[in-house]
Amino acid sequence: MIVTDLEHAKRALEDDKNLIIPTETVYGLAGNIYNDETINNIYRLKQRPSNNPLIVHISSTDALGQVAIDIPDIAYTLAEKFWPGALTLVLKKKDSISNIVTAGKATVAVRVPNHNTSLSLLKSLEFPLAAPSANPFGKVSPTSAAHAYRYFGEKVDILEGGKCALGIESTIIGFEEGTPVIYRLGSLSLEEIEFQVGNINIKNYDNSSPIAPGMMLKHYAPTTPLLLTDNIPETLKNKSAKRIGLLLSQTEYTDREKSTIIIINNKSNSLLAAKNLYSDLHHLDSLNLDLIIAEKWDENGLGKVINDRLTRASYNFQEN
Ligand code: AMP
Ligand code: MG
Repeated sequence: MIVTDLEHAKRALEDDKNLIIPTETVYGLAGNIYNDETINNIYRLKQRPSNNPLIVHISSTDALGQVAIDIPDIAYTLAEKFWPGALTLVLKKKDSISNIVTAGKATVAVRVPNHNTSLSLLKSLEFPLAAPSANPFGKVSPTSAAHAYRYFGEKVDILEGGKCALGIESTIIGFEEGTPVIYRLGSLSLEEIEFQVGNINIKNYDNSSPIAPGMMLKHYAPTTPLLLTDNIPETLKNKSAKRIGLLLSQTEYTDREKSTIIIINNKSNSLLAAKNLYSDLHHLDSLNLDLIIAEKWDENGLGKVINDRLTRASYNFQEN
């Protein structure tokens, strides 16, 4: 059921049920971090491997001490600058945080989401919420209540919060010997982070033992095969597929010879494209296409994170 009543949402979570909540990045499949059964159910519902930890959502920086210890000064600097917002910090966990939430790691990932409804909800609760993206593992994240409903139907209630304002997951930063490191590119751009802390290392590819699932080579994938290219006309030339969806960043595509070409997202604004990326993929994926061809973005601003997601979404695609 899609609900709008905050009291209903609060009661569900206090009764240790799962609830899908809106955030400014993507919708999250939430549960009380102190109830192991509720947390286990998040993994079950998502079919998420148990070695992939969850992000803990708190209502303000003041609550950080409830979940983390030995917090470096630079983490506070980043939190003050970017919270509430699309930044997740990986910090040393408090003993009271269950190993199920952190998938056995000594660290916990935490953020304050920038969404009025979910912030009010978090403020009204006496416990933080674990909430990974509300999609089956490896699939495109939901950026609307309707997307989440398509994945989970009546299995979990969904708190309506409109279309996600940013539309791509948070940027994850950890600390190695006190130095910040990016584990997942996300809605908070590299430029904004580097403006605060100077040059920063990115360690976001590791398939065998991912620090973050967003590190996996194959992720965020629609069911329809997806091909990523920087040359749309060339890529289209020899395609035998009948129904093709094009996700364009720049190219003005005029060749209409192919039988069915569906063009979506022909914009040069990377902020808007990031906001629409997953809803465009959900939409294209619902059209029974043979193939989606996406055009690469310029690497600046959010273009870099759009390319990151599209690269993972297209990984392993075999042409035939
Ligand atoms: P999701 O919200 O589904 O995109 O998943 C949450 C993200 O946070 C995943 O990429 C997790 O691996 C990452 N994450 C959660 N806890 C940690 C941690 N302790 N260290 C590194 N990454 C984490
Ligand atoms: Mg996810």
